[in-house]
Amino acid sequence: MFFQSRYNTLNSKLYTHQAPKPLHGAKPGHFNLALANDLQWSDAEKSAWIDICSGKQTFDAFPPLAMVYAGHQFGHWAGQLGDGRGLLIAQILDKNNQVIDLHLKGAGLTPYSRSGDGRAVLRSVIREYLAGHALNSLGIASSNAVGFTSSQQGVQRETLEPGAMLLRTSDCHIRFGHFEWINQYAPELLNDFVMQCITWHYPECLAQEQPVVAFAHAIVKRTAQMIADWQAVGFAHGVMNTDNLNITGSTLDFGPFGFLERFKPDWINNHSDHQGRYCYQNQPRIAHWNLSILLNNFMPLAPETEKETFKQQLITCLGDFEVTFLKHYQEKMCLKMGLPTFHKDSFDCALHFLQILQREQFDYTQSFIRLQEQEFTALKDDCVDRDGFDAFVTRYQNIRMHQDQAQLNESMQQHNPHYILRNQMAQHAIERAECDDFSEVKRLFDLLATPFSKQPSLEQASDIQPPHTDASEIAISCSS
Ligand code: AMP
Ligand code: MG
Repeated sequence: MFFQSRYNTLNSKLYTHQAPKPLHGAKPGHFNLALANDLQWSDAEKSAWIDICSGKQTFDAFPPLAMVYAGHQFGHWAGQLGDGRGLLIAQILDKNNQVIDLHLKGAGLTPYSRSGDGRAVLRSVIREYLAGHALNSLGIASSNAVGFTSSQQGVQRETLEPGAMLLRTSDCHIRFGHFEWINQYAPELLNDFVMQCITWHYPECLAQEQPVVAFAHAIVKRTAQMIADWQAVGFAHGVMNTDNLNITGSTLDFGPFGFLERFKPDWINNHSDHQGRYCYQNQPRIAHWNLSILLNNFMPLAPETEKETFKQQLITCLGDFEVTFLKHYQEKMCLKMGLPTFHKDSFDCALHFLQILQREQFDYTQSFIRLQEQEFTALKDDCVDRDGFDAFVTRYQNIRMHQDQAQLNESMQQHNPHYILRNQMAQHAIERAECDDFSEVKRLFDLLATPFSKQPSLEQASDIQPPHTDASEIAISCSS
């Protein structure tokens, strides 16, 4: 590894050094060798992956630390939070010379654990491991993980479950909540912290007349793009609190999350989310709300004589969320549909298709694949409203008629995954792993590594089938 330590150069109020506390009897879960290679791990480091991913081996070049931050959870100010069960154990250069954080989750108590035990259970570690991998393989900005370990040590949740640790990777662990913590508890640090964030993550903004405004604008844009990517692929984060979004337009902490199966825009994947705040169709609105909290926390940096102008500039940045989101989402949906992005009716036709999926309760992912394979008759046969489907097909084919269909078909193949991580798939892998059989985690890892290619030799029926319409859903809660 090539260390590039930087977080520990910040003011020491922002973190506490803390060594991980290994669990008893660490066992290998899964190792992402391709990612370790991208991160320039040496052969010796790769051989030691179980020790590194279980907190037994740390690095002299980077004394592990827990970050402090705050946040709004479910729309309410939650005060001080922080790494209550995770530690930044290294910052290293990947093969593109980008700095990547290694963050060990489930590594024991820290000063920010509050009433928690500092641990993570195998179930949630596997879900986070596969979610990060699935999103990265889909080309969507997300944290990822080099590997995870299970253990013989039990961790108490509703029942006693195997404890586990995940070695998460991300280009950044600075959350919106970092700025909330600073303004609340150490406002004197705000200016230096923001300038440091810009230097590390958005150096191009330094040359702008108002670097802070340019920084805010860049975060708004990247977040809007990520949410558009999520919506297009049917992904929803179940706990989109301000402490789980980071400033590089990506997300940390997949507890509850889900990929849509049958198309229900008001689908709630988090069983602790009784109001549906984080349901699928609310995700853009919530990202916008989180960004408004973040930008508000930049207000103390307004030049004394230009407070109102500065505020208006930030409002303008926030206003660009909707524009960026819609532009990106419309484009993605047209590409998924195999319709030209420049045609005035393409996006409307995509919405028409979504209405059919909703009315007929079709599987989101597989319906796009069926459209791609032009299975119009089979799709129609599955519809209750067949005349409605015919009307859609006529409209769809009319738009495509005079276009370069080969090119449109190719764009469909590049934008419609065959495989997403269905809850049932993750659940099955978890149940096997809890009996020390990690073969299903490996199978899913391999399957999800190339989601746009059909893989008959790896695929099982449950990978492409939604649950029965009357089946009860697997309850995914905040307990992890
Ligand atoms: P999350 O829902 O994973 O984003 O966590 C929200 C906050 O609770 C963060 O500050 C976490 O570090 C903390 N937290 C969650 N679970 C635990 C735990 N078992 N022990 C200590 N802190 C925890
Ligand atoms: Mg979190």
